[in-house]
Amino acid sequence: MGENARTTYLVTGGAGFIGSHLTDALLHRGDKIIILDDLSTGSLANLPSSGDLQFVRGTILDASLVDALVRQCDVVVHLAASVGVKLIMEHPLRSLITNISGSETVFEAARRHRKKVLLASTSEIYGKNPDTPLREDDDRILGSTNVVRWSYSTSKAVDEILANAYHREHGLETIVVRLFNTVGPRQSADYGMVIPRLVRQALRDEPLTVYGDGTQTRCFAHVSDVVDAIVKLLDHPGAVGQTFNVGSSEEVTILELAKLIGEMCQGDAGVRMVPYNEAYSSGFEDIMRRVPDTSKLHALTGWTPRRALRDILDDTIAASCGESGVAGR
Ligand code: UDP
Repeated sequence: MGENARTTYLVTGGAGFIGSHLTDALLHRGDKIIILDDLSTGSLANLPSSGDLQFVRGTILDASLVDALVRQCDVVVHLAASVGVKLIMEHPLRSLITNISGSETVFEAARRHRKKVLLASTSEIYGKNPDTPLREDDDRILGSTNVVRWSYSTSKAVDEILANAYHREHGLETIVVRLFNTVGPRQSADYGMVIPRLVRQALRDEPLTVYGDGTQTRCFAHVSDVVDAIVKLLDHPGAVGQTFNVGSSEEVTILELAKLIGEMCQGDAGVRMVPYNEAYSSGFEDIMRRVPDTSKLHALTGWTPRRALRDILDDTIAASCGESGVAGR
């Protein structure tokens, strides 16, 4: 249960992949939700119909709209952002403005109305720090400002710094969560994320595109586990003023992942190795390994991810089959 019987949450980006699952979880336990989403990457099809859910189409850059909605809620969950390496590479300026200026607008409204804010940040914060696993206080290691990936990382770092500054200087209740790779039903294949892309390719009997040599690794968490972590942190007074990694530590190489997806979808077309300069514009830098240390989150809330990679893939494949049929969208 929430802190109060009926807390009203403003979820920015609530029509997106993670936001819509969070909305389901909060509605399920009896809370009320206001969603602010510009539907740039989110979709109304992700949302249930419920008398406890109010949907507002608009942008976090609209300061008077944000102010009005923050005033109506008890707690803000700020998920709205430009996400996905592919989308960010294609629209770097828009991503920067949304992520920096939009977040500032949200924090400023929260300060005016004294509302707690949870900020969704990202494992991109760590850049190419090769340490394994990554702890919340580890260094950020970034490359040139000309590499778009690092400007995305920087924009989210600015958001985190804003959250910390509003907490320290204005006593605003803020929580920062760094989401590592998160997967599950409703994640679009259109923004470059590897699992929905590979599943779509496999279901269409197309070759599965593995970038680089496929030895890079990631750890994938199920969106339900990630939402569970977010809800636990929202409910815990000890989370305020803190930053938490959220993610799985089950590590897999992208080549192994592609083979597993091919096998599970019974795709016949095999794997196609794609050099990075073909996959992304030139100047792209991949992150070779990224494993979260989630002991801080576990120590505070007892959270641990419950779904393994195979369960995650089962769920994602089943949802993709249901959504789009074998022929795809
Ligand atoms: N990737 C891949 N094939 C694809 C899409 C992505 O091999 O069709 C790789 C990508 O280069 C990266 C990993 O999969 O090494 C995860 O990529 P994603 O964009 O999902 O997340 P992120 O890089 O942000 O962890």
